[in-house]
Amino acid sequence: MMKEIKTIGVVGAGQMGRGIAQVAASSGYQTKIFDVSAECLENGVAFIHQQLARSLAKGRITQEQLDQTVLLIDPISKLDGLSDCDLVIEAATENRKIKFEIFQQLDSTIKSGAILATNTSSISITEIAAVTSRPELVVGMHFMNPVPVMKLVEGIRGLETSNECYDTAAAVIERMGKVLVTANDMPGFAVNRILMPMINEAVYTLHEGVASVTDIDQAMKLGTNQPMGPLELADFIGLDTCLAIMDVLHDGLGDTKYRPCPLLKQYVAAKRLGRKSGRGFYEYN
Ligand code: NAD
Repeated sequence: MMKEIKTIGVVGAGQMGRGIAQVAASSGYQTKIFDVSAECLENGVAFIHQQLARSLAKGRITQEQLDQTVLLIDPISKLDGLSDCDLVIEAATENRKIKFEIFQQLDSTIKSGAILATNTSSISITEIAAVTSRPELVVGMHFMNPVPVMKLVEGIRGLETSNECYDTAAAVIERMGKVLVTANDMPGFAVNRILMPMINEAVYTLHEGVASVTDIDQAMKLGTNQPMGPLELADFIGLDTCLAIMDVLHDGLGDTKYRPCPLLKQYVAAKRLGRKSGRGFYEYN
């Protein structure tokens, strides 16, 4: 059994939310996007329009497809404007308190029977579900960055997620042209459980003087066929995000093999956060 999804709400218009809204509308869903910050909402919608104009210029979409997609996107200035959505995908700041508050609000404002999904990278789906009165309708839909480009979505079942809810989320992911992998609700799910320790180990390799920044990245690009080296990728993701996910793995799994590298902590303390702050393992202008 699957639920019919016509209208998708997106909470958060940052890097991920805007990408999810773009892909939802491009797949023909009526899409509503909300952010607490009016400025972020405006920037997010403007960014989607720019991305669509680029796709048109490159011949990837037609003018008609662009017009249709733009018409399907509705910026919303209050959370209760999402009340009639069949599925809401939350992509707000990665902070437990913020997410718990949003899910309590969603649970009381969104029509009963609607699915509440989260794009969290590291917070437990079961814990998020537990703050609502509908834990069977809460699911993880973990999109990758940048959303319109990356093919993968990790689907995560919380302890109480129903099969109907999971199958509905899976069908939406398929209609968006993405490929689903299923992960259990354990710290880091599958992608970050594997990726982050590799990045952390690359930082240790640098910290212990085994090889230089450029040699570590070159080694992994040319030696293991990765499109980006681990340190370059860490700068792209954000070193604060990498550290936060390592902390979740370390706390949640309790094994010292997940301890964050002291050099990673030091860079974050110095606000060398990667691309977004202009400096990480590399410098950006
Ligand atoms: P971001 O900082 O770019 O955007 C977060 C947005 O949430 C901001 O615009 C902020 O104004 C908004 N926000 C904060 N509190 C809110 C609230 N109460 N209601 C509505 N909006 C609120 O962050 P991001 O990189 O887009 O990450 C969003 C989520 O996606 C996080 O959970 C993150 O872990 C996850 N994620 C990120 C990536 C990545 O590579 N950046 C990849 C996969 C998943």
